[in-house]
Amino acid sequence: MKELKTCSNCKRELEINRFYNKERSLCIDCERDTAKTRMREYYSTLHGKAYQALQSARKTIRRNNYHVHDDLTVDQLVEAFEFFDHCAYCEKPFDNLSDRSIDHIVPLSKGGANTISNICIVHRNCNAKKQDKSVADVFGDEKANEIDEYMKFQRADDEVIEKISYYLDIEAKKKADKPAGYYGEFCRSASYKIEKIAVQLNKLREVI
Ligand SMILES: [Zn+2]
Ligand SMILES: [Zn+2]
Repeated sequence: MKELKTCSNCKRELEINRFYNKERSLCIDCERDTAKTRMREYYSTLHGKAYQALQSARKTIRRNNYHVHDDLTVDQLVEAFEFFDHCAYCEKPFDNLSDRSIDHIVPLSKGGANTISNICIVHRNCNAKKQDKSVADVFGDEKANEIDEYMKFQRADDEVIEKISYYLDIEAKKKADKPAGYYGEFCRSASYKIEKIAVQLNKLREVI
């Protein structure tokens, strides 16, 4: 006789092979449905939207075999979605989350990097309008200058992170030859340098 089990969700009595395994309380159909629902819920969040956008950019890079620098992360995209409360190109507000899209300022097809300083958040329509043209060609010189400043600002952040890593690296190397107890000094020295960099960055922010 075939082993039967009742799904705790749909209440159907089914053969055991309709479950992923004996211990599962939901049948395969119901497990798939709940997984789909969870994905839909996730994609309607900011993080889910950022994840989807990154996946789609990577797919474009792979499909076209673009040899572009790629270090974009989901967390950076979440920050970008939060940073742009208006479309970077037409400056009008967004209607909802699905109205937003990421645009590569220098298009991937023109060698633009998949990196945060080359990303801005724009309406789907504005994105479609720009395609692989330049910002200046579609939205004018003034807008292009403004976007240039934004890119510089983002790259400054990258430079700061690079500098911090560089200092930490030097300190870590020094630490290797030092006796125990050097750790406290190492931390003080590193945090002093990070503070100095943060001051520089704030000055730069005021200028921009
Ligand atoms: Zn079921
Ligand atoms: Zn727009």
